[in-house]
Amino acid sequence: DWVDVADVVRASTDRARKYFPGRVIETGIAPDLPLIETDSVLLGQVLFNLLDNAVKYGGTEPINVYARRDGNEVLISVTDLGKGIPVEELEQVFEKFYRRGKADGRAPGTGLGLSIARGFVTAMGGTIKAESPALKKRGTRIVMRFPIKEIQGKDMPCREDAP
Ligand code: ATP
Ligand code: MG
Repeated sequence: DWVDVADVVRASTDRARKYFPGRVIETGIAPDLPLIETDSVLLGQVLFNLLDNAVKYGGTEPINVYARRDGNEVLISVTDLGKGIPVEELEQVFEKFYRRGKADGRAPGTGLGLSIARGFVTAMGGTIKAESPALKKRGTRIVMRFPIKEIQGKDMPCREDAP
């Protein structure tokens, strides 16, 4: 389906604000986002999962969700300012059942969230990875990228064309 990322980001951040009252979740959504071909329900679940992690492990400062175009991809990121993930574990956290344990202050979880998120995103034709903002030495950014597909012989649908 052709999905308006802005709608999905708004819906899942609204849901997270209800679930985690008191947590500040800010959004920055570029106005010129093209539609992407993906599944809005799965994408919403992935975003909610990332927000759940940001709330559990991300300290108390505002969480930021950005969506913008980057070349021929749509980039969606969830950034927190918590303790972060050591560089050598940035890939491991996507493994099934991988949890950092005591380092997380014993927040409850199964260690499945990110592995499921990667499965969904990959199935949707996108990529997902974790980054540690190098300069600040704290915080985590999870970045998803989805390809913008050109439609042969037609103009790309964009948000203004959406019903
Ligand atoms: P579940 O999501 O299944 O409830 P979980 O949150 O432990 O459990 P994942 O979402 O897969 O599992 O995350 C795996 C581990 O990665 C977490 O246990 C935590 O150690 C680390 N992690 C995930 N997100 C963050 C984050 N934003 N900041 C710091 N560490 C994180
Ligand atoms: Mg989780």
